[in-house]
Amino acid sequence: MFKVTIDKEKCIGCGACVAVCDNLEIKDDGKAHPKKTEVEKPDCNKEAVDICPVQAIEVKEM
Ligand code: SF4
Repeated sequence: MFKVTIDKEKCIGCGACVAVCDNLEIKDDGKAHPKKTEVEKPDCNKEAVDICPVQAIEVKEM
């Protein structure tokens, strides 16, 4: 399993991660959040890590 976390302090709400990964969404606070924080495979969450301009997303093996 992998844990998906997004640093709210770093996230600027640009939406780039949401465009590449349907596990991520922009919420009312204007920041990206994972729909599922624990996933079986990194899949598109990993692409989101690479695309985020402020390195706010982390995908770590649990
Ligand atoms: S790509 Fe990064 S900065 Fe942009 S919304 Fe996603 S987490 Fe936030």
